[in-house]
Amino acid sequence: MYKCCINERCYKRKLRENRCSSCGLSYTEASSGNGFVGKLLVKTDSEVNTFTIFTQQVEQLCKLLECNIKSTSLESDIAKKLPVNIKFQKMEQKITKILV
Ligand SMILES: [Zn+2]
Repeated sequence: MYKCCINERCYKRKLRENRCSSCGLSYTEASSGNGFVGKLLVKTDSEVNTFTIFTQQVEQLCKLLECNIKSTSLESDIAKKLPVNIKFQKMEQKITKILV
């Protein structure tokens, strides 16, 4: 999890020293948004692959697994519910959409 800009045009850009390098807005610990980036191990019929997932996919995964995205132990909350069957769309090594 990382702190991000909540300006929609900035697409959850990561903050540097609580400042968005795109729009220049400053944030406090409390006012910044939360962005996510992680790895998901996915086994398909023929192979096992590691994919990168970002905030949007984590949100979709949370919806699917009924996890609270605001949880401070989100990572282990998700891990506890795995493995799970998912349908997803991918592009190279990134999952672009988890279908719920
Ligand atoms: Zn910004």
